[in-house]
Amino acid sequence: MMQSIYGYTLDMLKEYMISLGEKPFRSSQIIEWLYRQKVRSFDEMTNISKAFIERLKADFDLDLLECVTKQESADGTKKFLFRLKDGNLIETVLMNNEYGYSACVTTEVGCNMGCVFCASGMKKKLRNLETHEIVLQVLTASLLTNINISHVVVMGIGEPFDNYDNVIRFIKILNEPKGLEIGARHITVSTCGLVPKIYEYSEFPLQVNLAISLHAPTNEIRNQIMPINKSYPIEILMKAIKDYIDRTNRRVTIEYILLQGINDTVYAANELANLLFGLNVYVNLIPYNEVKEKPYKRSKKEDMVKFFDILKKRKINVQLRREQGSDIDAACGQLRSKHIS
Ligand code: SAH
Repeated sequence: MMQSIYGYTLDMLKEYMISLGEKPFRSSQIIEWLYRQKVRSFDEMTNISKAFIERLKADFDLDLLECVTKQESADGTKKFLFRLKDGNLIETVLMNNEYGYSACVTTEVGCNMGCVFCASGMKKKLRNLETHEIVLQVLTASLLTNINISHVVVMGIGEPFDNYDNVIRFIKILNEPKGLEIGARHITVSTCGLVPKIYEYSEFPLQVNLAISLHAPTNEIRNQIMPINKSYPIEILMKAIKDYIDRTNRRVTIEYILLQGINDTVYAANELANLLFGLNVYVNLIPYNEVKEKPYKRSKKEDMVKFFDILKKRKINVQLRREQGSDIDAACGQLRSKHIS
């Protein structure tokens, strides 16, 4: 059976080489052809023997994702709608930052987490994305735009820790020397709080970043908006975050969408400051992007500023995030495939 070669880490390619009696170092040559030279056919791999190229051709394909539409925003944000081989549609976003371009990738077709404010969860999860389907979002977007992607955020559709093994393999491939070589510190995975996987992630040897979609400082509020909180309530989640910080010595990003009248009050700001005080965290306050089918509203500007000021005064590292790509529905949390009903 033909497989995408883009699902293979260096180690997996090495094993493949060894199983065929080939020299293991061929695997890093191949990685270089795939991600540095970005070849479109095996024949271009000029340091590989003709006979072995035939073998690679029989075992692997080099297909990219099929791009259905590409939209561009005035601020340089680009959104892609890709069609997978089974017909499912996924979205990927490139964002233009001071430090370069970052790609926001999707990890599942649909999502089962059911956060009440989120557009992605309106479609139940149909399946996990395979490793190569996540890798190919980065590679295809880069090839179609000729943009060199320096950062990756795993914050598109889906819960990455509900597709853990493929996401980890994806990160390894991004990070491979002689490949895209995206630095682990330039890779961030965002989770709604699957606690056992937070522990597992803390054991992952690369220096990758973790972001937690907290969105509420108390169980009372969080239970209303994020069903995952019933399985892993705030005290259990906070313990996992503390243990993660202790184990990795890395700062954790706390994402907090401001929803009018729900989690944007002075009370909520103070509770959040109590919860996070003394922890090595960075709070991203995110203006909610309203979703047509949902009743939730973006907080008023003055409430967002008040919330921010309270955290600041209480010595919490905090920023009020700027928006990108909202004119093309590519802003945070707005990804979903409008093309399927
Ligand atoms: N499942 C993962 C990653 C995908 S969501 C997670 O929950 O972290 C990426 C971020 O966008 C999450 O923080 C999510 O809560 C947020 N988000 C979802 N809908 C949003 C919206 N309409 N406006 C702003 N942020 C939103």
